[in-house]
Amino acid sequence: MKRSKLLLTGLIVVAIVAFFASGLQHQFTLANFKAQQAHFSELNHTHPVVTAGVFFILYVLVTALSLPGAAIMTLVGGALFGLLEGFLLVSFASSLGATLAFLASRFLLKDWVQSRFGERLKAINQGVEKEGGFYLFTLRLVPAFPFFVINLVMGLTPIKPFTFYWVSQLGMLAGTFVYVNAGTQLGEINTLAGVVSPGLLASFALLGLFPLIAKKALDQLKKAKVYKGFKKPKTFDRNLVVIGAGSAGLVTSYIAAAVRAKVTLVEKHRMGGDCLNTGCVPSKALIRSARFLSQIENAKSLGIRDATATFAFSEVMERVQRVVKTVEPHDSIARYTELGVDVRVGSARIVSPWAVEIEAPDGTRETLTTRNITIATGARPFVPNIPGIEHTGYYTSDTIWELREQPETLLVLGAGPIGCELAQAFSRLESKVVQIQQGDRIMPREDQEVSQYVLERFQAEGIQVLLNSEVVRFALEGDQKVAFVQTNGSSQMQKIEFDTLLVAVGRAANLTGFGLEELGIETGKTVITNEYLQTKYPNIFAAGDVAGPYQFTHTAAHQAWYAAVNGLFGQFKRFKADYSVIPWATFTDPEVARVGLNEQEAIAQGIAHEVTRYGLDDLDRAIADEAAHGWVKVLTPPGSDRILGATIVGDHAGDLIAEFVLAMRHGLGLNKILGTIHIYPTWTEANKYAAGVWKKANAPETVLKWVERFHRWQRKSK
Ligand SMILES: Cc1cc2nc3c(=O)[nH]c(=O)nc-3n(C[C@H](O)[C@H](O)[C@H](O)COP(=O)(O)OP(=O)(O)OC[C@H]3O[C@@H](n4cnc5c(N)ncnc54)[C@H](O)[C@@H]3O)c2cc1C
Repeated sequence: MKRSKLLLTGLIVVAIVAFFASGLQHQFTLANFKAQQAHFSELNHTHPVVTAGVFFILYVLVTALSLPGAAIMTLVGGALFGLLEGFLLVSFASSLGATLAFLASRFLLKDWVQSRFGERLKAINQGVEKEGGFYLFTLRLVPAFPFFVINLVMGLTPIKPFTFYWVSQLGMLAGTFVYVNAGTQLGEINTLAGVVSPGLLASFALLGLFPLIAKKALDQLKKAKVYKGFKKPKTFDRNLVVIGAGSAGLVTSYIAAAVRAKVTLVEKHRMGGDCLNTGCVPSKALIRSARFLSQIENAKSLGIRDATATFAFSEVMERVQRVVKTVEPHDSIARYTELGVDVRVGSARIVSPWAVEIEAPDGTRETLTTRNITIATGARPFVPNIPGIEHTGYYTSDTIWELREQPETLLVLGAGPIGCELAQAFSRLESKVVQIQQGDRIMPREDQEVSQYVLERFQAEGIQVLLNSEVVRFALEGDQKVAFVQTNGSSQMQKIEFDTLLVAVGRAANLTGFGLEELGIETGKTVITNEYLQTKYPNIFAAGDVAGPYQFTHTAAHQAWYAAVNGLFGQFKRFKADYSVIPWATFTDPEVARVGLNEQEAIAQGIAHEVTRYGLDDLDRAIADEAAHGWVKVLTPPGSDRILGATIVGDHAGDLIAEFVLAMRHGLGLNKILGTIHIYPTWTEANKYAAGVWKKANAPETVLKWVERFHRWQRKSK
């Protein structure tokens, strides 16, 4: 602990101990003040300024140190100084004292509390940052909430000190007035409880409710303002219209149909969206074929002397399409129609907050009125405007699946998950791959050591990775496509020849051309929503890639639930989208999976943590599978088995992470994982062994020393 903190803690402790040791708490009683009222009045009469000054300072001290007696002093204020002066003195002294207590709590405890429980407090912190003043105001209005507890707890939150001060003063005015006024008749009061009758308490409670009611009314007003200029239909054709039949749209409409809402799902291109047609499914199918070739390549390590494979690139790509076709029925019009969803093929456009126009492929238009709309229009590959790119041409994750001719040299721009998965797959399919990454490492969201580890594997497999590099321009030299690449800002340009270009530098949300601009729905990189996934029109929601902040199929499906339920049942209860436990995986070899915090995030956010690591080179099953590489890394708060996050690098990482996801979601710690039977010999044992490493590092040494003594004694005794 810092010296200044130690000093302040010492001072506070000494003051509190002195207060109780000197028996001052017995002076702060109603009977005592009443007995001495004449004496104090005399003092005030002869030395009014000094008496008021001493009273003020004493009041500030009592409240700043959270000592008992503030309520009695308020009454005394009324009795001694009368209603107006007493009210002013108490109002300022109590607010000042409260702010000092708040500041002390913040100085001594906030960092510790936030670093220890920061992850859990995230939602509270965000709420306080946004509406802390409002909540403090309602708490202050009702004197039933303990004054000193509010001061100390608020000090641990991110609310600004000045906001705390003025909101406290304003909020306490009514209560202060009632108490000071009661103090003017101190003679008639026998107990503190007598000051506030049940009727008065009820009035305070109503007063406390007032801001909440006012806020609701204000929300209604705001809502009315947003919808101004639009005519709300008297009846609606649908409960919900969903735009886009990708992961988010499919799940939203599925849920709506399941709860018997009348729902229309509009898709302008292909049912299943990116994931089925150009994303997860084809990429994983391609990776499977590529992995097989890699295994053949490494056959010797399995004791197989000679294994070879011949393949035709076009057949591999045809297989990918076969896989897509096989999965297609899961997302088909037939299936969703059977589930009760009215599926429309066409382009949707929001024409009012309650109406969506659908233009069918034959050009016919129909407008459906609806109570709610969910925008689930997804994202598309972002293509940077690099000079010459129009001459060389390019593929993206949308179009690469059309390739039937094997690229001789594939140039991959970008080293995020999509760039990395495809770079390795094509390299294993025997294309020469050059990967260009602007930043200083691949997969930059993961820990540095993960990026390095995967990079080394890529390099060992023959992928040429250029870090800190960017293509300045593309050109055609005769028939040859070339890229001019600048590395580390050097003026020396590297010329790279290629025949196929894959652009994988990120994905941009689909925000234009379907009514958002006309309705003034706010957008940044994605559609801007509140925690309930509502846009500025409370009946229009967004989910999936178009809403962010994640771009995964499972997060799109997760958000879909909130969009559907908040839309259909929001008048009864709304749910805030919960992003506390979000897992993901990158399906490179080695696979990388993560849930919660990694080390670089914990450090950046100042979250105290302990790192536990288990190397997969130790795992029996990994050794048997000739895949003994990678690790399980778990972050926990120091001395606690609570899981803050886990990263797994190695075979089956995407499957193994599930146990940590479950544990985090349901608050299970590493002790619970350790106490669970895992089948031998499986990869899942790695999770248990990681928990074992944590347990060993956190063994209760003192207890164990006593246990050792006990055993020694047992050996000696008869
Ligand atoms: C190569 C690649 C690999 C990936 N791998 C994984 C993975 O392994 N795991 C994972 O979780 N995620 C993966 N993803 C991400 C995943 O595909 C997306 O996060 C997911 O598809 C998002 O779903 P969505 O419903 O938000 O959008 P989309 O799937 O893009 O669906 C949006 C739909 O809306 C339609 N639409 C748009 N505008 C209109 C309109 N005006 N009218 C009617 N219809 C409209 C579009 O045609 C589209 O079908 C991958 C992505 C790519 C590109």
